[in-house]
Amino acid sequence: MPKAIKKLAVLTSGGDSPGMNAAIRSVVRTCAYHNIECLGVYRGYEGLIEGDFKPMDARSVKGIINKGGTILKSARSKEFRTVEGRQKAFKQVVDADIDGLVVVGGDGSFTGALIFNQEFDFPVMGIPGTIDNDIYGTSHTLGFDTALNTVVDAIDKIRDTASSHNRLFFVEVMGRDVGHIALNVGVAGGAEEILIPEEDLGLDRLVESLNRSRTSGKTSSIVIVAEGDKIGKNIFELKDYVDENMEGYDVRVSVLGHMQRGGAPSCFDRVLASRMGVKAVESLLDGETNYMVGLLDNKMELTPLDKAIKGKSKINLELLRVSDIMST
Ligand code: ATP
Repeated sequence: MPKAIKKLAVLTSGGDSPGMNAAIRSVVRTCAYHNIECLGVYRGYEGLIEGDFKPMDARSVKGIINKGGTILKSARSKEFRTVEGRQKAFKQVVDADIDGLVVVGGDGSFTGALIFNQEFDFPVMGIPGTIDNDIYGTSHTLGFDTALNTVVDAIDKIRDTASSHNRLFFVEVMGRDVGHIALNVGVAGGAEEILIPEEDLGLDRLVESLNRSRTSGKTSSIVIVAEGDKIGKNIFELKDYVDENMEGYDVRVSVLGHMQRGGAPSCFDRVLASRMGVKAVESLLDGETNYMVGLLDNKMELTPLDKAIKGKSKINLELLRVSDIMST
């Protein structure tokens, strides 16, 4: 029989994403609903090692559902990657009578949670919080939808200046390993081309495609480039190549950077975070451990953490085709 859960802790880890606060709120209030104590852990695994905990009740999470970032702060902890660091963290959770841990973060944070469980048989549950949407076992990670809206808003603004000056803009968006953000904002923002890590268009074909657009009467263009795109060494090299091999455009680069992580979470992310928090706490109360909660077919489902970590989230290639047709 697993130990009855009387007190849970929640932490946010890795890169922050909009919706993390809404998830904290949901975890805390679900605990309150079930008469379970809840502790907030500051600065992810760093705070777990140091015992930087704060008791949280339903009122302590008021006014945060609409806030970006994370009130608990996030961190990347080198020490938690060591056995000694995790032993310190385990001593802290034992001393504080914590019976289970909800980890809001990406695959790195889940790896840490899984190892912690394997070493100390300590119940853990993951909530996927990352704007990249690169986690297997959920159609949407927390923050992805907000990031899409933020980026589309930026592209709309860039388009205004691009069309006023006959400019070709390369816009870099986040996505080191996956092109989810690029694909979606490319379609929604009416991009000419979308360059993603999963597909190598090649420099010549890129120039060919841009020339085709130009001869079809377009006077400005936007190309969305995911950070991890493999065509050039980086977006500035792409610009130089196109500058040298194409005439008639004034080529510019815009790197959107960290603004993509910020801002108030969208309605979608707030609802998703609320659902995930409830599912995470109630699953731990049901004696489940080592799972990530996710959205699949609009239902809350559990995926084993090791699968969520190792599995590949697949991009929707239909979107590439839609984009090709739309840029005709
Ligand atoms: P993002 O997707 O934003 O990068 P993430 O959760 O993948 O989020 P990471 O920096 O990879 O971010 O991981 C967050 C933290 O999880 C690390 O700083 C570390 O403390 C812990 N962690 C990651 N991998 C391991 C591991 N192999 N063993 C123990 N802890 C780990």
